[in-house]
Amino acid sequence: MRDGLELIPLYSSSGGNSTLIKCNGSCFLIDCGKNCKQTEAALMSVGVLPDDIECIFVTHGHGDHIAGVDVFVRKHHSAVLATSVTHRKMREIATKENPASKYITIEENEIVTLDCAAEVMALPTPHDISGSVVYKIKNLITGKTVAVMTDLGTFNPAMEGFSKGVDAILIESNYDPVMLRTGPYPYPLQKRISGGRGHISNDECARQVKRLYDSGTRKFILGHLSPNNNTDEKALACTTDYMLQFGIKAGRDFELRTARKTGPTEGFSV
Ligand SMILES: [Zn+2]
Ligand SMILES: [Zn+2]
Repeated sequence: MRDGLELIPLYSSSGGNSTLIKCNGSCFLIDCGKNCKQTEAALMSVGVLPDDIECIFVTHGHGDHIAGVDVFVRKHHSAVLATSVTHRKMREIATKENPASKYITIEENEIVTLDCAAEVMALPTPHDISGSVVYKIKNLITGKTVAVMTDLGTFNPAMEGFSKGVDAILIESNYDPVMLRTGPYPYPLQKRISGGRGHISNDECARQVKRLYDSGTRKFILGHLSPNNNTDEKALACTTDYMLQFGIKAGRDFELRTARKTGPTEGFSV
């Protein structure tokens, strides 16, 4: 698609996250949290050459979002945009100097305009590493918007305002509370995940999907599912059942799917 805006998850889970955004013929990524080879393979399988990735917007310094950034940009010369704290974190784990790529700082609440007539907005999140942001992308030609919102900690009023009325969203549905409580994780880690600076549960996600639906959003991808504390079935059922209480049916009134953990998921065009 030359004109328009597309959101395509390349892989999404606590084991690695990357989302491809296509806007008016240009391609960029949000995060690159598996290695370069896996990211290249995911891109090729959706028909995009890795060399065509103009830039990578990085949300925060956790490994499942930055693991592949350094090697990918050294090989493909994409620019990297992140908050100064996240840039520092990436420099710490970089193996070599990289003079070929551009490193651009995008601070919390800043808006960057790309040559492809895309506006990218960064919103800070209360996640448990400083410098964490989520991104919303607006096609300046059509006015359509998409957002990638994971690693949220909690869905606060600023995030509600930020995501209001987006045309499509990849939203975190990280854990099933019962699986987390009864699963293999030690208690302190359970507290970290479910605390206000960790991740949001299927139930919190379902409530946000309803709010977003009320604001006009109709295309949802549930992402960043925990491989240990969630299943696709539980995440989907939680949101579908919650929406049904209001007479709103997935597949009829809105589109809903989960993002695959290891490969691309059918995306949304808006
Ligand atoms: Zn993460
Ligand atoms: Zn994180």
